[in-house]
Amino acid sequence: MSTDEAGPLSVPDSDVEAGRDTEPDTAPDAEGLPVADLIRVVMYADGYGQFTLGRESFRELPENAETARCGDCPVCTVKCPYGVRVAERVSRAQELFA
Ligand code: SF4
Repeated sequence: MSTDEAGPLSVPDSDVEAGRDTEPDTAPDAEGLPVADLIRVVMYADGYGQFTLGRESFRELPENAETARCGDCPVCTVKCPYGVRVAERVSRAQELFA
């Protein structure tokens, strides 16, 4: 299966072939939030209809995933090269699970 057929969050073959940076940013953001993990858990609920899996996965994240609120952050420092609205997804994860 090519990566173009792998799903909406997969890296397109064209990006891999062009040598673009295709590594997801898994580092915590300016607030120390585990951004990639928060986007993953909200995708379980909103993308796949697996709310329970999302909630259980959220509970495995560091405590600040609940306590450091994205909505309180004045400027988002996370830029997604694929256009994912990071702050929106992180806020949604906290709205659902925190
Ligand atoms: S707006 Fe949200 S996702 Fe962006 S840096 Fe602030 S806490 Fe992190």
